[in-house]
Amino acid sequence: MRNNPILLVNVENLPPEGLERQGYVSAEELEFPADERFSLAREVHVDLFISCVKKGILCQGRINAQLSCTCDRCLTSYHSAVALSDICHLFEDFAEDILDLTYAVREDILLAVPQHNLCSTSCRGLCPMCGQNLNEHDCGCSRSSGETPDVWRALDQLDFSE
Ligand SMILES: [Zn+2]
Ligand SMILES: [Zn+2]
Repeated sequence: MRNNPILLVNVENLPPEGLERQGYVSAEELEFPADERFSLAREVHVDLFISCVKKGILCQGRINAQLSCTCDRCLTSYHSAVALSDICHLFEDFAEDILDLTYAVREDILLAVPQHNLCSTSCRGLCPMCGQNLNEHDCGCSRSSGETPDVWRALDQLDFSE
């Protein structure tokens, strides 16, 4: 595992006035999961303030990420910004001298990922008959006819014998 030093805080040497950490962290360094539904489009910008409080160590600040998503309805890819302006974590016990903020930053972004990816709230999706992206143009299929959609018919014609 390769951690970005921006996210590693030496607890022993934490100055009483606190510590500012600002910069870019890569998806790799965050061990950010990536699949067809979403991934990080570019490095994440963090702007953090770490300070000593009575109960432990407090990390506050901002996270800005750009996600690359695939729309659940029309399957096109689009970018979606995640802007967290008020993150806050309190670390009460840490076994080591180095406090690693990687996990906290990654989880903050993951929690902000929407459950459903939509390129726009008015996305019209794909035609179930011919697969045409209806945001681009209408295909003219009569979608109430009830006959087998072409997309499924094409699957029936696949030859798996070999
Ligand atoms: Zn869409
Ligand atoms: Zn169609």
